Amino acid sequence: MVTITKLPTYCYQCVCGPDLLKVVVKDGVPVGVEPNFDFADKHPAGGRVCVKAYGLVQKMYNPRRVKQPMVRGNKRKGLGEEPRWTPVSWEEALDLVADKLLDIRRKGLVDGAGYPRLAVTLGGAGTPQAYFGTLNAFFAAWGPIDFSLGSGQGVKCYHTEHLFGEYWHRAFIVAHDTPYTRLVISFGHNDNAAGGVTGVWRNAEARAAGMKWVQVEPHLSVTGATADEWVPIKPKTDAAFLYAMLHTVLHELGWEKVCDIDFLKNRTNSPYLIGPNGYYLRDPSTHKPLLWDAASGSAKTFDDKTIHNPALYGEFTVRKAVEIGPDKEVIEHSDVAGKTAFTKLVEHMKSCTPEWAGPICDVNPSTIRRLAKEFVDNAMVGATVTIDGVKMPLRPVAILLGKTVTNGWGAYQAVWARTVLQSLVGAIEVPGSILGVTIRLNRPMFDRLESVRIGEDGFMAQSLNPTDSERWEAVPRVRNAYKTLSPLVLDSSWSQALGPAHLPWLFMKHAPENWPAPTPPDVWMIYRTNPLISSWDPDLVAECLKDFPFIAAFAYTHDETNWFADVLLPDNVDLESYQLYRVGGTSYQEQFWEYTGVAIRQPVAQPPYNTMDLTDIATELADRTGLLREYNEAINNGVLGFRLKTPLYDYSLDPERKYRSYDIWDRLCKAATMSLSNGRHEYGLEWFRKNGAYLIPFKRINWYLHPIIVAKKLRYELPYQEKVMRVGQELGRRLHEHKITWWDKQLEEYKAMPEWDDSPKIFEDLPKVYGKKPEDYPFWLVTSRSMQYSWGANVSIPVIADISKHVMGHDAVMMNEEVGRRLGLKTGDEVFIESPIGRVRGRVLLRKGVRPDTVVALQQFGHWVTPVPKNIDAPNMNRLVPITLETTDGTGSGADLVKVRVEKVRR
Ligand code: SF4
Repeated sequence: MVTITKLPTYCYQCVCGPDLLKVVVKDGVPVGVEPNFDFADKHPAGGRVCVKAYGLVQKMYNPRRVKQPMVRGNKRKGLGEEPRWTPVSWEEALDLVADKLLDIRRKGLVDGAGYPRLAVTLGGAGTPQAYFGTLNAFFAAWGPIDFSLGSGQGVKCYHTEHLFGEYWHRAFIVAHDTPYTRLVISFGHNDNAAGGVTGVWRNAEARAAGMKWVQVEPHLSVTGATADEWVPIKPKTDAAFLYAMLHTVLHELGWEKVCDIDFLKNRTNSPYLIGPNGYYLRDPSTHKPLLWDAASGSAKTFDDKTIHNPALYGEFTVRKAVEIGPDKEVIEHSDVAGKTAFTKLVEHMKSCTPEWAGPICDVNPSTIRRLAKEFVDNAMVGATVTIDGVKMPLRPVAILLGKTVTNGWGAYQAVWARTVLQSLVGAIEVPGSILGVTIRLNRPMFDRLESVRIGEDGFMAQSLNPTDSERWEAVPRVRNAYKTLSPLVLDSSWSQALGPAHLPWLFMKHAPENWPAPTPPDVWMIYRTNPLISSWDPDLVAECLKDFPFIAAFAYTHDETNWFADVLLPDNVDLESYQLYRVGGTSYQEQFWEYTGVAIRQPVAQPPYNTMDLTDIATELADRTGLLREYNEAINNGVLGFRLKTPLYDYSLDPERKYRSYDIWDRLCKAATMSLSNGRHEYGLEWFRKNGAYLIPFKRINWYLHPIIVAKKLRYELPYQEKVMRVGQELGRRLHEHKITWWDKQLEEYKAMPEWDDSPKIFEDLPKVYGKKPEDYPFWLVTSRSMQYSWGANVSIPVIADISKHVMGHDAVMMNEEVGRRLGLKTGDEVFIESPIGRVRGRVLLRKGVRPDTVVALQQFGHWVTPVPKNIDAPNMNRLVPITLETTDGTGSGADLVKVRVEKVRR
């Protein structure tokens, strides 16, 4: 008789999870995947998963996997150097890695240049933590590790939004409050591809209920294709469009009539008075910012309880005040005139008319004007809604930004303008508006609301990296120097990856003046990442890797980066190992739950190959490097999400003992359930293997910051960036004191109110850096996300390749139909795409839905080693994008954008 069981597990192959599923196991063999409808009423997508989860069984049985540990036979490394892999036992492989690590411990954890000798690069925007078992505990036990060698992170994410979103409203990712939103204006935000199963589900429901979606982007993405309207904007001009929307609201529609005046006066820095040097005017004794109380006709500190009517607009004379400049310099004033920050904003936007922006963006000014009006009309200023018994403003409009818009030059302007627009109508962190979904830079990482603490000047506390002369980190302690160059990236466990993570590759080969050149790490570990595909300028990365003395790669298949490795460690994949992971609450992109808790990932059958549970690998490495005690203590102390010992319970590990994966996760399951239930439930691993997840209610009101902002009497630091300006000036002083001037252009970005700076020109002029003519590169090459392939090694799964064939653009470069014909091209023709640094080859697909000046290459192909994708005939734009300081902005990010020419391949 056939036995069928259905084992619950989670998928977190992309950051839009975790989502819950069941694996169908027939007579001990997994044969399929289905939704987990046990959680249909709790999971925001009704217990469903997206198409990628349906490839998990193939992922497990993929015959092209690395099937046992392997060591390199060829001591030389290079693109043309065959590694000559030799299979070894796990004992041999782990001993080899442990020997190299012990060598480091003998020499000292940090090298002569001050950089950690051990470096680790992870891929997939945080998804690795849902798979790497207890590896985090090993890292915690180790000591200093360099996580800053990039594989695309920090530059191919929503970088400026991550930094400023979290700064302004604890929004590492910004999402719309889909169930309430009436209008979304999306600047390249590719929600259908990037929103996960919950995003697609929630948006489909909202669209059916009448939500309007306007997509502003150079090509018609899979999100644009389902939008109500497509506005084909010229690449990288989004900030000009948004500035013109600001102009329309402030100067044409009449801010007095359409803005949320109460919100601006009481929840933003709009009424703060700005002095002649651009800093807040402050009370001379308390140094608190001043505003003007129109009721009493006098200046008062922002928190003065006697203020009746803060003036929003105007210039006022203050008898005595001070400004505080960089390095706490106090500038004293008598009878000084101060304009409100809002007045400054209105003046700042005066010249940014739709007629000004229209030619920049190649969009009819009437479209910009109309969308600005639709935005304020749909904001419903004055409307309220009751959530969990609390009356809240309802502001159902959201402007969303996509990658490239939020990355590189021009991103600060775009992110600032978007958030200011939202603030004008009070549409931040209230129902229907833009919401932050998670935090990654502030703490505690799993409680966004808790991270809102009272800080200086009426705003939430910010723990920027110091720029004062005593505490500024003059000598970088990791290779991307995030604390030295990027104050806004903070110093959490994610900050290294969000610094300028592409710069180590550049600086290893071309160190700038007066800078400690990054050294190759003694040991580089890589997990779920392939920088030779996902980073720009792979040839530069390859040059660097040749000098890396020892690379340990956790390997699923052979790939372009582990081609350079010394040892391949094939760890168990998604359906082969244990892990307990947090689910629910709010997380990106649209994981808004009314429950929170934990879910299990579990083996659904015996692994088919000689692979190993990563928890067991981590335990072995800890044991062999003499770190078992520290490793077990890290687990006891909660590095896996829950402490193993509290006054309620004690499941702690004996620090001197080695535990198997099952034992560790069993204890975690018990600790998590005891902790979440406040001692009422103790469920171990066996319970989770049957039930899948343990959830407790999470109130919907917790989706919004508004109640806590009001309760703590805080304001959003908008529209005026006084602190950012001051921090930039301090950073400039520090760098100049050390004779570093190559970051000067980046320092210009630290503006209280950024101007439109013609950022497209930076990309248009790039050919000149290489002695080439800009006019020879007439097309913008942009990229778009493949929902089917992104992350999770899905590019190696045949069933995903089959599915992807049905989605346009997966095997071709997309180009405007008319323009292609003029070039003598037809769909299917082979073309060269050439930038100033390289040339790739691919087939062209002619479409109407692409601007005439734009070509589109979906991310990220161009493999030459990885089985399966090496047969996909699609190019990788990364080969055409240089890593340069010229294209790196002040936050340390760049954009997936390069000017190219396109030519037919002639035989
Ligand atoms: S959206 Fe992401 S996490 Fe969810 S099922 Fe799909 S791949 Fe997995």
